[in-house]
Amino acid sequence: MAIEWQILGQAGADNALFVTIDSGQSRESLLFDCGEGCLRDLRTGAIQSVSHLFFSHFHMDHVAGFDTFFRHNYNRPEGPVQVWGPPGAIELMWHRFRSFGWNLHVDQPGEWIVREVDDVRVAMARFITAEAFAIRHPQPDQALDPVITFQAATWHLETRLLPHGSIPSLASRVVEKAKRNIDPAAMHALGLVPGPWLKELTNDSVADATPVRVSGRPFTFGALRSSLLLTTPGDSIAYLTDFRVEPGSPLWADLVHWLTGTTTLVCECQYRADDDTLARRHGHMTADLVGRLAAEASVGSVVLQHLSRRYSNDDWTAMRHEAKAFFPRIEFPAGWIPGN
Ligand SMILES: [Zn+2]
Ligand SMILES: [Zn+2]
Repeated sequence: MAIEWQILGQAGADNALFVTIDSGQSRESLLFDCGEGCLRDLRTGAIQSVSHLFFSHFHMDHVAGFDTFFRHNYNRPEGPVQVWGPPGAIELMWHRFRSFGWNLHVDQPGEWIVREVDDVRVAMARFITAEAFAIRHPQPDQALDPVITFQAATWHLETRLLPHGSIPSLASRVVEKAKRNIDPAAMHALGLVPGPWLKELTNDSVADATPVRVSGRPFTFGALRSSLLLTTPGDSIAYLTDFRVEPGSPLWADLVHWLTGTTTLVCECQYRADDDTLARRHGHMTADLVGRLAAEASVGSVVLQHLSRRYSNDDWTAMRHEAKAFFPRIEFPAGWIPGN
């Protein structure tokens, strides 16, 4: 299993994050934000493989590329496209779906499920291409689980609403399912001979209570699993953009706790440390704060994105140093800035 990722767009321009979760048996792609021109970095097949599109918020630089995404997916035949966002996402996406001339839609496939997340619930609505998106089909609200916002087959989603000036920005963390491997030494110690039962051991559809005979002795799958399986946590990737949290605040502590141990933190880095007044005014982080956050959360590595275009290459290089003063494993996406 693995989480592959790619930052779309360039330094000082709109950005997005494309993630593919490869479980070994299946591959699923997720897109975080959709700024102008970002999808130029992806093949059509990749754009059409995105099962979930997550909007952090709806400022233009995060949504201006949505028309391209919609054009490639509005009549997707093989199942719904799922869109997520902060409060207001359903109304806003509905406007976007309807903002085209529709007259050849009646026989088209296509379904869109839009969810909006606040602090206590997930609201949901369906939209149908064959209806020209005229009808909003509300679905029952779901209470927001304090840990897991959405459970998929091979990964789960966690979310936080972070302050971005006067609006919230939806931060996301995707966690792969834990990996379970058979421990050959434990199998040898128990004197068990490999057979078809081994495959069933990691098959979740086989209940723990199911009896099985191995090497002539009676077991249950549950007993074999607790003796023979080694569990290692899956990889994780967090996407945080357009937010401002003050060090030492309760929200900062919650953010550190939430991000602790994350494999890859993809984080905005809009301003240099010296421009903190500007950063606060616009609800953004500075490079040094990103470094402090990464250090306190002991993440695996950090990828900086969403850099202000007010800066030069030299400023961006200095920005990375400002973050690295607190945390060593901080990179820009490959090829963004010469020498970095
Ligand atoms: Zn932005
Ligand atoms: Zn913004």
